[in-house]
Amino acid sequence: KNVVLTGGTGFIGKKMTQLLLENGFSVSILSRSVNTNSDGISYFQWDVDAGTIDEQAILNADYVIHLAGENIGAKRWTTARKKAILDSREKSTQLLYTCLQKNNKQLDAFISASGVGIYGVINDELVCTETTPAASDFLGSVCQKWESATAPIHNLGIRTVQIRTGLVLGKGEGVLKQLVPLFKYKLGSVIGSGKQYMPWIHIDDLCRIYLAAITNSQIQGPYNAAVNDGTTNAIFSATLAKVFGYRIWLPKVPAFVLQLVLGEMSQLVLQGRRVATDKIEETGFQFQFTDLEKALRHCLSH
Ligand code: NDP
Repeated sequence: KNVVLTGGTGFIGKKMTQLLLENGFSVSILSRSVNTNSDGISYFQWDVDAGTIDEQAILNADYVIHLAGENIGAKRWTTARKKAILDSREKSTQLLYTCLQKNNKQLDAFISASGVGIYGVINDELVCTETTPAASDFLGSVCQKWESATAPIHNLGIRTVQIRTGLVLGKGEGVLKQLVPLFKYKLGSVIGSGKQYMPWIHIDDLCRIYLAAITNSQIQGPYNAAVNDGTTNAIFSATLAKVFGYRIWLPKVPAFVLQLVLGEMSQLVLQGRRVATDKIEETGFQFQFTDLEKALRHCLSH
Protein backbone atom coordinates (compact mmCIF):
# COMPACT_ATOMS: atom_id res chain seq x y z
CA LYS A 1 0.00 0.00 0.00
CA ASN A 2 1.10 3.56 -0.69
CA VAL A 3 1.21 6.37 1.86
CA VAL A 4 1.45 10.00 0.75
CA LEU A 5 3.28 12.16 3.27
CA THR A 6 3.04 15.92 3.09
CA GLY A 7 5.88 17.51 5.06
CA GLY A 8 7.69 14.21 4.57
CA THR A 9 11.02 16.06 4.40
CA GLY A 10 10.64 17.44 7.95
CA PHE A 11 11.58 16.18 11.42
CA ILE A 12 8.58 13.88 11.92
CA GLY A 13 8.21 13.12 8.20
CA LYS A 14 11.70 11.67 7.86
CA LYS A 15 11.23 9.29 10.81
CA MET A 16 7.76 8.40 9.60
CA THR A 17 9.09 7.59 6.13
CA GLN A 18 11.63 5.21 7.67
CA LEU A 19 8.98 3.46 9.80
CA LEU A 20 6.59 3.09 6.86
CA LEU A 21 9.30 1.59 4.65
CA GLU A 22 10.27 -0.83 7.44
CA ASN A 23 6.62 -1.90 7.57
CA GLY A 24 6.38 -2.62 3.86
CA PHE A 25 4.60 0.53 2.66
CA SER A 26 5.71 2.57 -0.30
CA VAL A 27 5.97 6.30 0.38
CA SER A 28 5.21 9.31 -1.80
CA ILE A 29 6.29 12.70 -0.51
CA LEU A 30 4.54 15.90 -1.50
CA SER A 31 7.09 18.68 -1.20
CA ARG A 32 7.51 22.27 -2.33
CA SER A 33 10.93 21.44 -3.72
CA VAL A 34 12.25 19.04 -6.33
CA ASN A 35 13.80 15.88 -4.88
CA THR A 36 15.25 12.75 -6.46
CA ASN A 37 13.31 9.51 -6.04
CA SER A 38 15.04 6.83 -4.00
CA ASP A 39 14.31 3.25 -2.92
CA GLY A 40 10.61 3.05 -2.05
CA ILE A 41 10.19 6.86 -2.03
CA SER A 42 8.68 8.91 -4.87
CA TYR A 43 8.60 12.69 -4.71
CA PHE A 44 5.86 14.91 -6.05
CA GLN A 45 5.50 18.68 -5.99
CA TRP A 46 2.86 21.07 -4.79
CA ASP A 47 2.54 24.78 -4.16
CA VAL A 48 -0.07 25.52 -1.55
CA ASP A 49 -0.10 29.31 -2.15
CA ALA A 50 -0.56 28.86 -5.91
CA GLY A 51 -3.08 26.04 -5.31
CA THR A 52 -1.19 23.59 -7.54
CA ILE A 53 -0.54 19.92 -6.83
CA ASP A 54 0.79 16.96 -8.82
CA GLU A 55 -2.42 14.94 -8.74
CA GLN A 56 -0.60 11.74 -9.58
CA ALA A 57 0.62 11.60 -5.98
CA ILE A 58 -2.95 11.47 -4.69
CA LEU A 59 -4.29 9.18 -7.42
CA ASN A 60 -1.80 6.49 -6.33
CA ALA A 61 -2.47 6.93 -2.61
CA ASP A 62 -4.11 4.53 -0.17
CA TYR A 63 -3.40 6.78 2.81
CA VAL A 64 -2.44 10.42 3.32
CA ILE A 65 -0.49 11.63 6.35
CA HIS A 66 -0.63 15.41 6.36
CA LEU A 67 2.29 16.89 8.30
CA ALA A 68 3.09 19.97 6.20
CA GLY A 69 3.10 23.36 7.84
CA GLU A 70 5.33 26.37 8.41
CA ASN A 71 7.43 25.78 11.53
CA ILE A 72 5.55 27.37 14.45
CA GLY A 73 8.63 28.09 16.55
CA ALA A 74 11.00 29.33 13.86
CA LYS A 75 10.29 33.07 13.69
CA ARG A 76 8.40 35.80 15.56
CA TRP A 77 4.65 35.71 15.00
CA THR A 78 4.20 38.81 12.84
CA THR A 79 0.88 39.19 11.03
CA ALA A 80 2.45 37.79 7.85
CA ARG A 81 4.02 34.90 9.75
CA LYS A 82 0.72 34.03 11.44
CA LYS A 83 -0.98 33.96 8.05
CA ALA A 84 1.73 31.64 6.68
CA ILE A 85 1.40 29.33 9.72
CA LEU A 86 -2.36 29.06 9.22
CA ASP A 87 -2.44 28.95 5.41
CA SER A 88 0.21 26.23 5.17
CA ARG A 89 -2.08 24.01 7.25
CA GLU A 90 -5.65 25.01 6.39
CA LYS A 91 -5.21 25.79 2.68
CA SER A 92 -3.01 22.74 2.17
CA THR A 93 -5.76 20.54 3.63
CA GLN A 94 -8.31 22.26 1.38
CA LEU A 95 -6.05 21.65 -1.64
CA LEU A 96 -5.84 17.95 -0.79
CA TYR A 97 -9.62 17.84 -0.38
CA THR A 98 -10.20 19.49 -3.77
CA CYS A 99 -7.89 16.99 -5.42
CA LEU A 100 -9.69 14.03 -3.81
CA GLN A 101 -13.14 15.39 -4.58
CA LYS A 102 -12.39 16.34 -8.20
CA ASN A 103 -10.95 12.90 -8.95
CA ASN A 104 -13.61 11.05 -6.99
CA LYS A 105 -10.73 9.43 -5.16
CA GLN A 106 -11.25 7.30 -2.05
CA LEU A 107 -8.58 6.72 0.59
CA ASP A 108 -8.35 4.16 3.39
CA ALA A 109 -7.61 7.07 5.76
CA PHE A 110 -6.56 10.72 5.91
CA ILE A 111 -4.44 11.39 8.99
CA SER A 112 -3.57 14.95 9.88
CA ALA A 113 -1.16 16.42 12.38
CA SER A 114 -2.56 18.84 14.94
CA GLY A 115 -1.25 20.14 18.25
CA VAL A 116 -2.08 20.04 21.96
CA GLY A 117 -2.01 23.83 21.58
CA ILE A 118 -5.65 23.42 20.50
CA TYR A 119 -6.60 23.51 24.20
CA GLY A 120 -4.86 26.84 24.77
CA VAL A 121 -3.30 27.72 28.09
CA ILE A 122 -4.47 25.81 31.14
CA ASN A 123 -2.13 26.04 34.08
CA ASP A 124 -4.43 24.42 36.62
CA GLU A 125 -5.01 20.73 37.26
CA LEU A 126 -7.46 20.23 34.39
CA VAL A 127 -6.34 17.38 32.18
CA CYS A 128 -7.61 18.07 28.65
CA THR A 129 -9.38 15.25 26.86
CA GLU A 130 -10.31 15.23 23.19
CA THR A 131 -13.71 16.69 24.14
CA THR A 132 -12.20 19.75 25.85
CA PRO A 133 -13.19 22.76 23.69
CA ALA A 134 -10.62 24.47 21.48
CA ALA A 135 -9.17 27.75 22.75
CA SER A 136 -9.60 31.03 20.92
CA ASP A 137 -5.95 32.15 21.15
CA PHE A 138 -3.74 32.01 18.04
CA LEU A 139 -2.58 28.39 18.33
CA GLY A 140 -5.99 27.18 19.47
CA SER A 141 -7.69 28.71 16.46
CA VAL A 142 -4.98 27.50 14.04
CA CYS A 143 -5.40 23.93 15.29
CA GLN A 144 -9.17 24.19 15.17
CA LYS A 145 -9.20 25.48 11.59
CA TRP A 146 -6.61 22.87 10.57
CA GLU A 147 -8.75 20.07 12.01
CA SER A 148 -12.00 21.53 10.66
CA ALA A 149 -10.50 21.57 7.16
CA THR A 150 -10.50 17.75 7.31
CA ALA A 151 -14.33 17.65 7.76
CA PRO A 152 -15.08 17.84 4.00
CA ILE A 153 -12.67 14.90 3.51
CA HIS A 154 -14.57 12.97 6.17
CA ASN A 155 -17.77 13.85 4.29
CA LEU A 156 -16.35 12.11 1.20
CA GLY A 157 -16.62 8.90 3.23
CA ILE A 158 -12.93 8.83 4.15
CA ARG A 159 -11.81 7.93 7.68
CA THR A 160 -10.09 11.01 9.13
CA VAL A 161 -7.82 11.21 12.16
CA GLN A 162 -6.21 14.21 13.87
CA ILE A 163 -3.09 13.65 15.96
CA ARG A 164 -2.92 16.37 18.64
CA THR A 165 0.80 16.29 19.19
CA GLY A 166 2.81 17.43 22.22
CA LEU A 167 6.46 18.52 22.14
CA VAL A 168 8.25 15.93 20.05
CA LEU A 169 11.58 14.68 21.44
CA GLY A 170 14.08 13.39 18.90
CA LYS A 171 17.77 13.66 18.32
CA GLY A 172 19.09 16.85 16.76
CA GLU A 173 15.69 18.26 15.79
CA GLY A 174 12.58 19.91 17.20
CA VAL A 175 12.74 21.32 20.71
CA LEU A 176 15.94 19.43 21.61
CA LYS A 177 17.80 21.07 18.72
CA GLN A 178 17.26 24.38 20.49
CA LEU A 179 17.82 23.23 24.06
CA VAL A 180 20.73 20.80 23.79
CA PRO A 181 23.42 23.40 22.89
CA LEU A 182 22.50 25.35 26.06
CA PHE A 183 22.27 22.37 28.40
CA LYS A 184 25.43 20.81 26.98
CA TYR A 185 27.37 23.83 28.28
CA LYS A 186 25.41 23.82 31.55
CA LEU A 187 23.63 27.02 30.58
CA GLY A 188 20.09 25.67 30.47
CA SER A 189 17.62 26.95 33.00
CA VAL A 190 13.97 27.07 34.01
CA ILE A 191 11.76 29.35 31.96
CA GLY A 192 9.25 31.74 33.52
CA SER A 193 7.57 30.30 36.63
CA GLY A 194 8.58 26.78 35.60
CA LYS A 195 5.08 25.61 36.51
CA GLN A 196 3.78 25.51 32.94
CA TYR A 197 3.04 21.96 31.75
CA MET A 198 5.08 20.54 28.88
CA PRO A 199 3.36 17.47 27.45
CA TRP A 200 6.06 15.63 25.51
CA ILE A 201 6.28 12.55 23.30
CA HIS A 202 9.24 10.56 22.00
CA ILE A 203 9.38 10.68 18.22
CA ASP A 204 9.35 6.86 17.97
CA ASP A 205 6.06 6.72 19.91
CA LEU A 206 4.56 9.49 17.80
CA CYS A 207 5.44 7.65 14.58
CA ARG A 208 3.97 4.45 16.07
CA ILE A 209 0.73 6.36 16.71
CA TYR A 210 0.61 7.43 13.06
CA LEU A 211 1.27 3.84 12.03
CA ALA A 212 -1.51 2.64 14.33
CA ALA A 213 -3.83 5.20 12.73
CA ILE A 214 -3.09 3.53 9.40
CA THR A 215 -3.40 -0.08 10.46
CA ASN A 216 -6.26 0.19 12.97
CA SER A 217 -9.43 1.21 11.13
CA GLN A 218 -11.20 1.81 14.47
CA ILE A 219 -9.05 4.90 15.00
CA GLN A 220 -11.06 7.94 13.92
CA GLY A 221 -11.27 11.59 15.01
CA PRO A 222 -8.91 13.49 17.33
CA TYR A 223 -6.33 11.82 19.61
CA ASN A 224 -3.96 13.39 22.10
CA ALA A 225 -0.40 12.27 21.47
CA ALA A 226 1.73 13.15 24.51
CA VAL A 227 2.68 11.48 27.76
CA ASN A 228 0.48 12.53 30.66
CA ASP A 229 3.05 12.53 33.44
CA GLY A 230 2.58 16.08 34.72
CA THR A 231 5.96 17.26 33.37
CA THR A 232 6.34 20.98 33.95
CA ASN A 233 9.03 23.22 32.51
CA ALA A 234 10.91 23.03 35.84
CA ILE A 235 10.83 19.22 35.77
CA PHE A 236 11.80 19.12 32.09
CA SER A 237 14.74 21.51 32.60
CA ALA A 238 15.98 19.71 35.72
CA THR A 239 15.79 16.34 33.95
CA LEU A 240 17.63 17.57 30.86
CA ALA A 241 20.30 19.11 33.11
CA LYS A 242 20.61 15.78 34.96
CA VAL A 243 21.11 13.96 31.68
CA PHE A 244 24.00 16.37 30.98
CA GLY A 245 25.36 15.72 34.48
CA TYR A 246 24.59 18.94 36.35
CA ARG A 247 22.03 20.65 38.56
CA ILE A 248 20.50 23.86 37.30
CA TRP A 249 22.45 26.72 38.82
CA LEU A 250 21.36 29.68 36.72
CA PRO A 251 18.33 31.70 37.87
CA LYS A 252 15.01 31.27 36.09
CA VAL A 253 14.72 33.14 32.80
CA PRO A 254 12.08 35.79 33.59
CA ALA A 255 8.92 35.66 31.51
CA PHE A 256 9.25 39.32 30.45
CA VAL A 257 12.65 38.68 28.84
CA LEU A 258 11.16 35.96 26.67
CA GLN A 259 8.18 38.13 25.89
CA LEU A 260 10.56 40.86 24.74
CA VAL A 261 12.68 38.53 22.65
CA LEU A 262 10.00 36.25 21.23
CA GLY A 263 6.89 38.43 21.36
CA GLU A 264 3.60 36.49 21.29
CA MET A 265 5.51 33.35 20.32
CA SER A 266 6.83 33.25 23.90
CA GLN A 267 3.55 31.53 24.82
CA LEU A 268 5.05 28.38 23.26
CA VAL A 269 7.49 28.15 26.18
CA LEU A 270 5.78 30.14 28.92
CA GLN A 271 2.40 28.46 28.92
CA GLY A 272 1.01 24.97 28.72
CA ARG A 273 -1.64 22.44 29.63
CA ARG A 274 -1.95 18.75 30.58
CA VAL A 275 -3.50 16.25 28.20
CA ALA A 276 -5.08 12.83 28.78
CA THR A 277 -4.00 9.80 26.78
CA ASP A 278 -6.84 7.39 27.65
CA LYS A 279 -8.40 7.63 24.18
CA ILE A 280 -5.31 6.49 22.26
CA GLU A 281 -4.47 3.87 24.91
CA GLU A 282 -8.00 2.44 24.68
CA THR A 283 -7.26 1.56 21.03
CA GLY A 284 -4.54 -0.82 22.31
CA PHE A 285 -1.67 1.60 21.72
CA GLN A 286 1.09 1.42 24.33
CA PHE A 287 3.70 4.13 24.82
CA GLN A 288 7.27 2.80 24.84
CA PHE A 289 8.61 5.96 26.46
CA THR A 290 6.76 7.19 29.54
CA ASP A 291 9.82 8.14 31.59
CA LEU A 292 11.21 11.54 30.61
CA GLU A 293 14.78 10.85 31.65
CA LYS A 294 14.90 7.57 29.71
CA ALA A 295 13.31 9.25 26.69
CA LEU A 296 15.87 12.09 26.77
CA ARG A 297 18.80 9.70 27.19
CA HIS A 298 17.51 7.63 24.28
CA CYS A 299 17.12 10.71 22.06
CA LEU A 300 20.61 11.93 22.85
CA SER A 301 22.29 8.60 22.27
CA HIS A 302 20.49 7.49 19.09
P1 NDP B 1 9.09 20.49 10.21
O1 NDP B 1 9.13 21.99 10.30
O2 NDP B 1 10.34 19.73 10.51
O3 NDP B 1 8.59 20.04 8.78
C1 NDP B 1 7.42 20.51 8.20
C2 NDP B 1 7.41 20.27 6.70
O4 NDP B 1 6.31 21.00 6.17
C3 NDP B 1 8.65 20.79 5.99
O5 NDP B 1 9.61 19.76 5.82
C4 NDP B 1 8.13 21.31 4.65
O6 NDP B 1 8.30 20.35 3.60
C5 NDP B 1 6.63 21.49 4.89
N1 NDP B 1 6.28 22.93 4.85
C6 NDP B 1 6.82 23.94 5.56
N2 NDP B 1 6.26 25.11 5.23
C7 NDP B 1 5.33 24.82 4.27
C8 NDP B 1 4.44 25.61 3.48
N3 NDP B 1 4.40 26.93 3.60
N4 NDP B 1 3.65 24.97 2.59
C9 NDP B 1 3.70 23.64 2.43
N5 NDP B 1 4.55 22.85 3.12
C10 NDP B 1 5.34 23.44 4.03
O7 NDP B 1 7.89 20.05 11.17
P2 NDP B 1 7.74 18.74 12.10
O8 NDP B 1 8.14 17.56 11.34
O9 NDP B 1 8.36 19.03 13.41
O10 NDP B 1 6.15 18.74 12.34
C11 NDP B 1 5.23 18.20 11.40
C12 NDP B 1 3.85 18.65 11.77
O11 NDP B 1 3.55 18.28 13.12
C13 NDP B 1 3.72 20.19 11.69
O12 NDP B 1 2.51 20.53 11.08
C14 NDP B 1 3.75 20.62 13.15
O13 NDP B 1 3.00 21.79 13.40
C15 NDP B 1 3.13 19.42 13.86
N6 NDP B 1 3.61 19.37 15.24
C16 NDP B 1 4.95 19.23 15.51
C17 NDP B 1 5.42 19.25 16.80
C18 NDP B 1 6.87 19.12 17.13
O14 NDP B 1 7.25 19.19 18.34
N7 NDP B 1 7.76 18.89 16.16
C19 NDP B 1 4.48 19.44 17.94
C20 NDP B 1 3.10 19.59 17.55
C21 NDP B 1 2.69 19.55 16.24
P3 NDP B 1 8.87 20.78 2.12
O15 NDP B 1 9.98 21.76 2.37
O16 NDP B 1 9.34 19.48 1.57
O17 NDP B 1 7.73 21.35 1.39
